[in-house]
Amino acid sequence: MSWLDALQLGDLDPATRMELTCRRCGKVRFVKPSELLARADYRRLWLSEVQARARCRQPGCGSAMRLALPAGGSARGFVGGIA
Ligand SMILES: [Zn+2]
Repeated sequence: MSWLDALQLGDLDPATRMELTCRRCGKVRFVKPSELLARADYRRLWLSEVQARARCRQPGCGSAMRLALPAGGSARGFVGGIA
């Protein structure tokens, strides 16, 4: 179990910049929780589920992506708080 299973999208600061990296082509894109939370069913998603749903947007790729948070981001302090 990783930190991705310990945090729900709704737990993050909406302004946190999450980094999604394509596992195949390496394309990086950034997404904020506030953008995903615009979809009603996303608030209770674990970050591991968010990662599982993410797909690369490069034409012809569409591969799975790896989710990461910036070092020192607000989620790190949150994890420390519940550990
Ligand atoms: Zn890709």
